[in-house]
Amino acid sequence: MKAIVVDKTGGPEALQFKDSPKPKAEAGQILVKNHAIGVNYIDTYHRKGIYPMPTPFIPGAEGAGEVVEVGPDVTDFKVGDRVAYTGSKSYAEFTPVPVLSAGKIPDNVSYSDASALLLQGLTAWTMVRDGYPVKKGDYVLVHAAAGGVGLLLCQMANLLGATVIGTVSNDEKAKLAKQNGAHHIINYSHEDTVARVQELTNGQGCHAVLDGVGASTFETSLKSVRRLGTLISFGNASGVVPPISIAILGEKSIKLMRPRLYAYIATKEEKDKWWGELFQLLADKKLNIQIYKTYKLEDAKTAHTDIESRKTVGKLLLEL
Ligand code: NDP
Repeated sequence: MKAIVVDKTGGPEALQFKDSPKPKAEAGQILVKNHAIGVNYIDTYHRKGIYPMPTPFIPGAEGAGEVVEVGPDVTDFKVGDRVAYTGSKSYAEFTPVPVLSAGKIPDNVSYSDASALLLQGLTAWTMVRDGYPVKKGDYVLVHAAAGGVGLLLCQMANLLGATVIGTVSNDEKAKLAKQNGAHHIINYSHEDTVARVQELTNGQGCHAVLDGVGASTFETSLKSVRRLGTLISFGNASGVVPPISIAILGEKSIKLMRPRLYAYIATKEEKDKWWGELFQLLADKKLNIQIYKTYKLEDAKTAHTDIESRKTVGKLLLEL
């Protein structure tokens, strides 16, 4: 089969389009023929070696397609089922997927939409429902508000009744974040985020700050949380947050969380709950899926260059 293979970690050129042995569905697995493959920031961490993986490896944490083979003991799925999944090795024609990581998708949901929503949608929904349960009247600050996770966080926090403040780096992103639920936008290229947050929250700061940018925003995030508020640091788009002393949380008695999606969907019950709620939001037309661009699988390196250059908004997909 055709696949992207990383033999040696590095820049986007590490993503090589190659022939690779076609996998089989082993016990507890289904084999999925991918029709849409999600690009996620974590793919860049794997490619660069920030999250080390044994080499060679096929990157990719999400996809959607049809089941073409089921493992010997699999009863929940059959050949021909339309599924989406989170996990690994999705930058390929075929991906073996543990059944716990896969789910059937409704007939009226396209492979592209399922793959655009699943991983980022689960990340965002678990964050606003469990990480910090957003409630009516809250002020919530979302960094990278026009990004893949960011646009979904804006929509979801708005849906739950919060006043949403989004940060972005340019005016085009500002417009899109506003169209997707942000009430106020801070363009940090020419505005001071901490000062604007104080102004918008009557000097109190935000009940929750949702920060997937990491190193470059951590200080700003700390300063933007209100007394007894919550800071969720969920990613490293600008680099890993350096080690901190927990004593810095004491001044305002802040809760600090570092979530990882997979901890939320570790059992079938948990997975079914969060997937069910996410797809219900979609069925109820409460979510707008924003696809930036669909690239050919062989152009994965361009997709990585684009997402890392901060010019993208919403979701990037790959297709064969
Ligand atoms: P995005 O589409 O949000 O892209 C990253 C955005 O971060 C950019 O568009 C840019 O927006 C902003 N940014 C600020 N500084 C930098 C920088 N130095 N380099 C690159 N980008 C920068 O990506 P995703 O939606 O895919 O992911 C967002 C974050 O969520 C990532 O950190 C990712 O790792 C994390 N994540 C975490 C998960 C978890 O389980 N914990 C699961 C899924 C995602 P702007 O220009 O407007 O500032």
